[in-house]
Amino acid sequence: MDQLARPALDLILPPRCLRCGEVVAGDGALCVACFREATFITPPLCHRCGVPFGGDWAEPVAEEAAGLLCAACARRPPPWHRARAALIYDDGARPLLLAFKHGDRTDAAGALGGWMARAGASLLESADLIIPVPLHRTRLWRRRFNQSALLAAAVARRARRPWAARLLIRAKATPTQGGLGAAGRVENVRGAFRLLRPERVAGRRILLVDDVLTTGATLAEGARVLRNGGAAAVDVLTLARVMRENGESV
Ligand SMILES: [Zn+2]
Ligand SMILES: [Zn+2]
Repeated sequence: MDQLARPALDLILPPRCLRCGEVVAGDGALCVACFREATFITPPLCHRCGVPFGGDWAEPVAEEAAGLLCAACARRPPPWHRARAALIYDDGARPLLLAFKHGDRTDAAGALGGWMARAGASLLESADLIIPVPLHRTRLWRRRFNQSALLAAAVARRARRPWAARLLIRAKATPTQGGLGAAGRVENVRGAFRLLRPERVAGRRILLVDDVLTTGATLAEGARVLRNGGAAAVDVLTLARVMRENGESV
């Protein structure tokens, strides 16, 4: 939304909580009660995949300096360089992500992008270009907007970094990933993306943005295509991430 148009619109439509619909003050995406329900990811966390470690979360450590690594990343490094997310995808986060994606609440992109910019500050510092995970044009037409592109634009604005929505495209209309297992998801997105102008990513550090990291299959395929196109490194930033029951990274 045009920033200049915002104050006038607020007089007619006061901002509402993305989770419960209550009127909220300022441009916050959540009311106080829903904000408390959301699980924001804070250090200490795995340097590579960004999974938060248990224990005393009130005692943050500089993860870059400590270089903490989770067991899953020590066993098998992720297909991207680093990943970060603002929220755990739990009962606190699910309604707000669904409202953003399907409920015409694109007005919340700025606030959500602010959370992401904070969570991904260390990634943004070294990012040359921000690229959203694309939707296929038929789905874009049905949904009218790509939620990942809205988040990428909001993050780019906060961090004053360039972003590009039409370099990585979805060449194949794949069925939705919902309901598929981990192996099915990998198979489903194989060959789904195409990089249109590889010279724009060659030798550069790319930050790939999506709304949720579930199994990571979609982001891994996007990262693979960008690396094949010559990207120096690919980091991943999402609004939320799924955690396994045992707290391990997905
Ligand atoms: Zn609320
Ligand atoms: Zn890890």
